[in-house]
Amino acid sequence: MQLTSAIKEINPEAVGETAPSAQSEAKPVIEIDHLHKVYKTGDVEVHALRGVSLTIRQGEFVAIMGTSGSGKSTMMNIIGCLDRPTRGKYILDGHDVSAYSKDERADIRNHKIGFVFQGFNLLSRTSALENVELPMLYANVPTEERHKRAYEALTAVGLAGREHNHPNQLSGGQQQRVAIARSLVNQPTIILADEPTGNLDTRTSIEVMEIFQRLNREKGITIVLVTHEQDIAEYTGRVVVFRDGKIRRDYKIDEPRDAGEELKQLPPPSDDDDEEE
Ligand code: ADP
Ligand code: MG
Repeated sequence: MQLTSAIKEINPEAVGETAPSAQSEAKPVIEIDHLHKVYKTGDVEVHALRGVSLTIRQGEFVAIMGTSGSGKSTMMNIIGCLDRPTRGKYILDGHDVSAYSKDERADIRNHKIGFVFQGFNLLSRTSALENVELPMLYANVPTEERHKRAYEALTAVGLAGREHNHPNQLSGGQQQRVAIARSLVNQPTIILADEPTGNLDTRTSIEVMEIFQRLNREKGITIVLVTHEQDIAEYTGRVVVFRDGKIRRDYKIDEPRDAGEELKQLPPPSDDDDEEE
């Protein structure tokens, strides 16, 4: 595996694939070709991405790693249609979004992508239920359907009974689960998570990774997650390492850690508000 990774690092084509072989038949959902991003601030230009090519297929679970400033968030912003490349092509689920207008990007983003952030980004004066309903408001989902899907999503992340709590009445782990529920309600093809466990303790991080693994395995949702922790990357199936705006390594995790199994081995949580399903 180390040798293969080393070869891939030098020349991905040399080993005949850039994606894990188990996924090689699945259709590509993210196709990025020679992508560049240059930020211009006054006279200063920052070349944040320098010719990145990357294919991610349906059902993959990918960790993006790399030192601070290597271009990870720039990449995620482009994948999430929050920003556009300076040069190069990006095809999202068959749509060439590189040339999309702001409105067109907002539309495809709403339908295809769920976001989870390090700081949860929940509205503080609003209940868990209303937070989860928010993306459906933008998508014009009728009220009854909104409630139904929001309850289902909160149940799926183990928060049934917590619908009317506000974020400050929930633990960090519970808040992140609300954010994951929110990312799910428009039935996204892809979930993008930028350092989702960055503010969480070890056990809570494993709980969050268990939810992601379940969504990936059972619902086939493609997940791309930025992390600087090797431990967290080991729950995914593939690691892409950025350095200086380029991909330096791209390797498969042959035996991902199983968050569900690991949670069974841990002593039960000390607070009693986390009910087992
Ligand atoms: P990472 O997420 O890996 O820490 P970023 O993608 O945030 O890296 O940043 C890559 C490079 O681009 C850095 O040099 C950073 O300072 C620069 N950069 C990021 N966003 C902007 C911006 N909006 N304007 C100017 N420079 C930026
Ligand atoms: Mg970043």
